[in-house]
Amino acid sequence: MDLNFTKEEEDFRLMAREWIGNHLPDTFKGRRQRSTRVERDTWYKALAAKGWLCAAWPKEHGGSGWSLAQQYIFRDEAANQGAPGNDMGVSMIGPMLIEYGSESQKKRYLPKIVAAEEMWCQGYSEPNAGSDLASLRLRAERHGDHYVLNGQKIWTSFANESDMIFILVRTDLNAKNQQSGISFVVSPINAPGIEIRPIRQITDESHFYETFFTDVKVPVENLIGEENAGWTLGKRVLAHERIATGAAEVFRQSLDRVRDLAMRTSVNGHHAIDEPVIRQRLAKLEMELGALKAVGFRSLTQLLRGQMPGPESSIVKLYGSELYQRIADLALDIQGPAAQVWDDPGYGDDSLWSKVAAGTRAVSIYSGTSEVQRNIISERVLGMPKG
Ligand SMILES: Cc1cc2nc3c(=O)[nH]c(=O)nc-3n(C[C@H](O)[C@H](O)[C@H](O)COP(=O)(O)OP(=O)(O)OC[C@H]3O[C@@H](n4cnc5c(N)ncnc54)[C@H](O)[C@@H]3O)c2cc1C
Repeated sequence: MDLNFTKEEEDFRLMAREWIGNHLPDTFKGRRQRSTRVERDTWYKALAAKGWLCAAWPKEHGGSGWSLAQQYIFRDEAANQGAPGNDMGVSMIGPMLIEYGSESQKKRYLPKIVAAEEMWCQGYSEPNAGSDLASLRLRAERHGDHYVLNGQKIWTSFANESDMIFILVRTDLNAKNQQSGISFVVSPINAPGIEIRPIRQITDESHFYETFFTDVKVPVENLIGEENAGWTLGKRVLAHERIATGAAEVFRQSLDRVRDLAMRTSVNGHHAIDEPVIRQRLAKLEMELGALKAVGFRSLTQLLRGQMPGPESSIVKLYGSELYQRIADLALDIQGPAAQVWDDPGYGDDSLWSKVAAGTRAVSIYSGTSEVQRNIISERVLGMPKG
């Protein structure tokens, strides 16, 4: 594909840059800490008011009508200025509902995502079902016009700040294989019987939760797709998630900050950026980021041809998440002993790097670990035999 942008696209970039500059709340500019729902809502609502929040969706469901190049440019500019990523409603469940939801489900859920009124979280993982997700056990028993859910999910990100949860549940204990006994349902996160408990993370924060289900009633109309056919839907959501997690524009700002750090930090009487080893590592990371962008363009081409993301999204996820870790590790190496300071206002923003680096460990775990991505790439992209 042609990697050059047209004059119109470059004009669009200038428009996007200016609009984002005027509307992105100052709290996001230059920050490396997670934002709160209230802060994110301000930004999402500004986008929603323009019809730009669900930019990638088809126009009839509330999409922007932008070309793929324009969507890419807008995301790029937003990330460059520090804008938060999309909610799971926009990037994961929405596209899946457009593909598989019934008309009444689309009518119920999509407009609230488009208007930034409902935020979503993901109930997939269980204490004994992470990489081996198909072994999940949260039970959903049909009782007339509703299901009754009992069991536990874990690592539910943003459960405390979400309105809705999409859940993989087991509806058939006697299915011929694990995958075919799974269904996909949605529920308000505050439904009676759902209890969330925070989990303390390595960064000393709690962004994810244990989620317990005790006799939770879920109306049958909240089943997405067919009963016992939820596995395909669940995997489709993951493919959307992996592209979002590994996208190059997400890491652009981090690499810029490391370069800035190298230009300011003194080492042996000169700036770190003047050390050949540091310069080489920065240059290598720039090239890696460029390569990731090129792989992202490949996914874009696929979407241009009307195809949905498939196992190739694992390449973006694997490469992107490990690249992010290498970027953060370079910041720690530039800081040397100062990297031991942990989020101390007395040392300013630079004292956040150790926390950021600890946080990047999670990226190669969520949305499927790096080992699992390598398995998918080898078996389903390269066609190699199962190990
Ligand atoms: C920050 C964060 C946020 C998350 N948010 C959510 C969320 O919102 N919703 C949700 O449902 N889940 C979420 N998760 C859970 C995440 O999807 C799981 O942690 C992940 O799928 C791995 O599962 P596990 O933790 O059970 O590890 P395990 O599956 O037990 O894996 C342990 C180790 O074994 C390796 N391994 C396992 N199987 C294989 C294999 N077949 N081949 C090679 N190696 C293998 C893994 O790579 C890993 O190193 C989140 C996780 C994190 C860290």
